[in-house]
Amino acid sequence: MLSSRVSLSVAATAATPFRFISQIPNSRFLGQKKMSYLSNPISSSAIPKWNLKMEVSSGSNFTTRASAQPLKNADELIDSVETFIFDCDGVIWKGDSLIDGVPETLDMLRSRGKRLVFVTNNSTKSRKQYGKKFETLGLNVNEEEIFASSFAAAAYLQSINFPKDKKVYVIGEDGILKELELAGFQYLGGPEDGGKKIELKPGYLMEHDESVGAVVVGFDRYFNYYKIQYGTLCIRENPGCLFIATNRDAVTHLTDAQEWAGGGSMVGAISGSTQREPLVVGKPSTFMMDYLANKFGILKSQICMVGDRLDTDILFGQNGGCKTLLVLSGVTNLSMLQSPNNSIQPDFYTNKISDFLALKAATV
Ligand SMILES: [Mg+2]
Repeated sequence: MLSSRVSLSVAATAATPFRFISQIPNSRFLGQKKMSYLSNPISSSAIPKWNLKMEVSSGSNFTTRASAQPLKNADELIDSVETFIFDCDGVIWKGDSLIDGVPETLDMLRSRGKRLVFVTNNSTKSRKQYGKKFETLGLNVNEEEIFASSFAAAAYLQSINFPKDKKVYVIGEDGILKELELAGFQYLGGPEDGGKKIELKPGYLMEHDESVGAVVVGFDRYFNYYKIQYGTLCIRENPGCLFIATNRDAVTHLTDAQEWAGGGSMVGAISGSTQREPLVVGKPSTFMMDYLANKFGILKSQICMVGDRLDTDILFGQNGGCKTLLVLSGVTNLSMLQSPNNSIQPDFYTNKISDFLALKAATV
């Protein structure tokens, strides 16, 4: 349950307002019960100085919704929107396998004139790298239709006119570096710092680059103490240094045998040492939604968000004012959706997206 949230309104360029919401951690990791989450108040030193206006609010804005309905008439839903935003893992594919019926479903939606967009919180790949994955799976998806949180981090920096003479320190994998490079930003860190160790001796002091103006944190399999200390020094000591998270997912699915610590664990370490909350650019923050709506000129009420996770995908759709469809082909099953502990109810649920092909007016 959302007990508090911090909203950051960012006046980017001209009159392009973006809205950011700090994420609420997933509480399903390792069987933990749901926990309330209180954001630390943002200190004045956290306010970036580049063309930003921030508005901090607190208090609950959780809205109780009616229970999700099984999708019975797919045509009605398809006709009611012009854009479908799909989460990828658990919706389009599972690991490296395509989910049944996906190509035919995407073809049918395109033939009916729908715009398709693919959004993922996974920051380890760039848009180009994701494009290759779609291609490998035999899906005809344009790079422009893919929005990964690695891209969102670079797009966010562009949206605030982050100075090109400042650098970005990256805690994360290759996807973030690739997107920063494409956007023309200078960066350091990333995989290169994965093998670095700190050898403590009396009086040892770690130097850091004072021209780092932003630290971007994403999922990082080579996370270490060097990176924590370097990122912490930049955020604490460089005036106005931004702290940006690609996502705060508690868990990820490196293998299908168990849940693995997700990007939220890296973000949590930096948040713990800096006592700062990050600007989150991935789901469920609405940055990507706002960016998409702005880029394509779409009304958010004309979007249906389709995902397999309640606390990222469905919340993302709801935060953006979109219609929402939960598919049970990924991490959420029906009993989790209907559990009294779950407070996030999509508009509809169904087994998998290819149900669109079968569900004219039948039942699930
Ligand atoms: Mg997913």
